[in-house]
Amino acid sequence: MPDEARTDTAPAVVIGAGPSGLATAAMLQRVGVPAVVLERGEQVGVSWAKRYDHLSLHTARSGSHLPGLALPRGSGTWVGRDAFVDYLEAYRSHHRLRVRLNVPVERIEAASTGPAPEAGGAGGAGVRWRVHTGRGPIAARAVVIATGRCRTPHLPDWPGLDSYNGLFLHAAGYRGPAAYRGRSVLVVGAGNSGTEIATALARQGAKQVWIAVRTPPNILPRDSSRWHALGRLTEFLPAAWRDRSALWTQRCVVGDLTSHGIPRPTTGPFTRNHREGNNPVLDHGFVEAVRTGRIRPVAAVTGFDGPRVDLADGSVLTPDVVIAATGYRPQLEGLLSGLGVLDGSGHPLVHGALTAPLAPHLYFVGFTNPLSGALYQAGVEARAISHAIAARTAPVPAPRRAAAPAPAEPVR
Ligand SMILES: Cc1cc2nc3c(=O)[nH]c(=O)nc-3n(C[C@H](O)[C@H](O)[C@H](O)COP(=O)(O)OP(=O)(O)OC[C@H]3O[C@@H](n4cnc5c(N)ncnc54)[C@H](O)[C@@H]3O)c2cc1C
Repeated sequence: MPDEARTDTAPAVVIGAGPSGLATAAMLQRVGVPAVVLERGEQVGVSWAKRYDHLSLHTARSGSHLPGLALPRGSGTWVGRDAFVDYLEAYRSHHRLRVRLNVPVERIEAASTGPAPEAGGAGGAGVRWRVHTGRGPIAARAVVIATGRCRTPHLPDWPGLDSYNGLFLHAAGYRGPAAYRGRSVLVVGAGNSGTEIATALARQGAKQVWIAVRTPPNILPRDSSRWHALGRLTEFLPAAWRDRSALWTQRCVVGDLTSHGIPRPTTGPFTRNHREGNNPVLDHGFVEAVRTGRIRPVAAVTGFDGPRVDLADGSVLTPDVVIAATGYRPQLEGLLSGLGVLDGSGHPLVHGALTAPLAPHLYFVGFTNPLSGALYQAGVEARAISHAIAARTAPVPAPRRAAAPAPAEPVR
């Protein structure tokens, strides 16, 4: 059967049933645009379900819920991984979202035929996009990409990595500290994941824990969840002022770790967030573990050679295990090939309600990482996108016969 003959049609297709996709579908529903969510995984929130056992939100519960349903009070201030996955499932059912699971989207292309939407569109539905899935194509008036900023684990291009004969894994494959009891572990990368993993390993019986630090992180106490709210309240102030106050907080509360191998950062968290999209490390006991020598900071990794890991200061380690907490990439190139909507580093050119000139009705949600928190931001973008889609894809009313004039209001 030709593709055309069995193409489903939906007013809006949302790709990805993580927090961003679910929030967008819920907000679309609220403005009267029925959306279908396509998810490659076997459950909603699958990227959370697969993360490590001791993961909890870095943002406080009060700033982490999605629009239209609060996180339950019983899940505490720092919502754990499983409670957050349960919340996402509850969110789907509360909003009665249409989610099709186990449907990987392979490619999105512009619908080539059919009249303009203003004239009724292809198939009479204003189709702009054809979404190719493992289960056949779907035609849509609007498509929202919510496949996640952290879709694919990223590894630096380290020389000799193939020759490394210890156990090597990315943080995406780490489940918990139990498997590393009695072993020496090098964690590479001092972001939130790296510091949290190193702390759990040090607490739960790893023989030796090192953490390789390339750029000294901004570290703030975990309790600065108010930090995220503050981030929102102080957005109008110059970044230099906000940086100075954050560096000052860090100096007062965290102190100086230079003698332990982590120099004071010279760039504040607002500038780093703006330049690199990084968020500060929220301390879960990492600072204490460094001070007491249970975690030893070392220089950045430069390469591997058999059992050896080479470091930027010329020293060498021979750990049993290396865990690379070196981040993720959105990896959108294959999905959106040839559409001209990505920048040179593979990130979307536009976010939220904006669309690229060559790709009207194609939206991106969840690809920024503001200090106000990505989950909070997902709600902001979801609302903006839903209003934009509702405004731009509203069906054009059919011409009507002149109605009988309404009875005149009596003039008073
Ligand atoms: C370890 C970690 C901790 C974090 N903690 C916090 C926090 O405490 N607070 C906070 O605000 N933010 C946090 N974030 C950032 C952000 O909130 C999360 O990454 C969040 O899950 C982003 O939601 P998302 O829906 O954009 O992406 P995801 O949750 O990654 O969801 C994307 C979905 O798209 C699906 N998908 C991908 N490709 C396809 C395809 N081709 N076809 C169909 N489906 C597809 C995936 O299976 C997935 O279900 C954290 C991130 C990480 C990595």
